[in-house]
Amino acid sequence: PSSLIAMLAVHVDARPDAEAVVELGGERLTYRELWDRAARIAGGLRGRGLQRGDRVAVRYPAGVDWVLAFWGVLFAGGIVVAVNTRSSESEVAFLLDDSGASIDLAPGADLPVGDPFVDETATLTDVAALFYTSGTTGRPKGVPTTHEAFLTNTGNVARCFAIPSDIGTDMRTLICVPLFHVTGCNSQLLVAAYYGGTAVIMPTLDVGALIGTLAAERITFLVTVPAIYALMLRHADFAGADTSTVRWLAYGGAPIAPSLVASLKRAFDAARVANGYGMTESASLMTVLPHEDAEDHADSVGYAVPSVELGVAPFGDEPGFGELVVRGANITAGYWQRPDATAETIVDGWLHTGDVVRVDDAGRVRIVDRTKDIINRGGENVSSIEVESALMAVPGVLEAAVIAVPDDVLGEKVGAVIYTGGETIDVAEVIAAVSESIADFKVPQFVSVITEPLPRNPGGKIVKGRVRDSVVWGEA
Ligand code: ATP
Ligand code: MG
Repeated sequence: PSSLIAMLAVHVDARPDAEAVVELGGERLTYRELWDRAARIAGGLRGRGLQRGDRVAVRYPAGVDWVLAFWGVLFAGGIVVAVNTRSSESEVAFLLDDSGASIDLAPGADLPVGDPFVDETATLTDVAALFYTSGTTGRPKGVPTTHEAFLTNTGNVARCFAIPSDIGTDMRTLICVPLFHVTGCNSQLLVAAYYGGTAVIMPTLDVGALIGTLAAERITFLVTVPAIYALMLRHADFAGADTSTVRWLAYGGAPIAPSLVASLKRAFDAARVANGYGMTESASLMTVLPHEDAEDHADSVGYAVPSVELGVAPFGDEPGFGELVVRGANITAGYWQRPDATAETIVDGWLHTGDVVRVDDAGRVRIVDRTKDIINRGGENVSSIEVESALMAVPGVLEAAVIAVPDDVLGEKVGAVIYTGGETIDVAEVIAAVSESIADFKVPQFVSVITEPLPRNPGGKIVKGRVRDSVVWGEA
């Protein structure tokens, strides 16, 4: 297709009465209904003065209104600004100002309607949406995402997950992750629309309801984060649940334990399982670890997707170790109105991911740490993620953040901030326990036990900048 609109039009012609979108506990729309209503919203937006390229903030919770707003803005020739619905008032104000949105579609405000309008002039290089990065390492950055980037990602999902091209209405994906991030929107909502299938949307996550929905809605493609799969397997309703409809099961966003992969394969025995790694800047996927490798290489995020070329900007002299750099049709050309961040991130056409990786001879990528979080202790690289996993394996440690402590001699030393849920803990015992599982130079020399959970962004990632700013160290 020549644009997302052209992709949708194919199904409106071929299967107008097939289900396009289902909001659990809410409305169900066919392709014909989705098209007609989106066209009327587009007309309404034009009536409110929207011109080609104008930004429209979409702030509805996940559901039919979000999807109608998304297509309505595209039909009107505008750019969707996908706003995190968990943002505070000041964060929303920042996003509206940063994106320059001229129209704000928020809960409480009805979607505008007018005479139907569909902008048929959209091309592959037009920006369709602005997604914002999670703000884990700084202020969120707007990422312009073109029709081409969206369509390239759908093609990657199809290829890497081995989904047959004629699956049609059997493509039924359950969306229980946000639509304002690239996974839910690009790798689920638009993948369903690519095949003429159905996006089944769960507005608020409920693990018990999710389990029942699998068979009730004949879900074939399931995507969520490892933590939710872990809760699902432990849920009382899971033992007798019918999982036989699920043919593709994907996880990502955070590392997964090999034992969880094994349990998932057993529990969903009709499914191909896969790990997906990506970022806002890549319109979703950059690498996929396929079913065949999922268990044996659970510490890896797999191989580059077809449209992405990988490179490693070396960190020292170990071959295959360094910052992952990428280029390809689904990678953004730069940040929205942030020439400084763009120049820092995209160098000679390669986007620097900010992730430190190890790539093995087979081309498999393992994530070591963020460039901003890796600790250089006298020339030895220490992965904060690895030390955090070791700490969290110690009974009593609920959360851990490992950060650098400046040192005159070594440059940096390893510090650990621990949350126990308020229980007292013997720091010396914790250190003795981690010393059994990791090399001595990685063992934290400074420890701080805190009484509040670690600061996290709405996506659940630890905001280490805030940890660094507030920490008061004790000797380990
Ligand atoms: P910001 O760029 O604003 O600091 P962010 O990088 O967290 O925030 P996102 O684009 O939402 O914003 O997240 C992408 C990051 O998430 C990746 O760079 C990587 O660090 C992490 N990530 C994504 N998928 C996986 C995965 N499968 N396994 C491990 N980490 C992952
Ligand atoms: Mg990032």
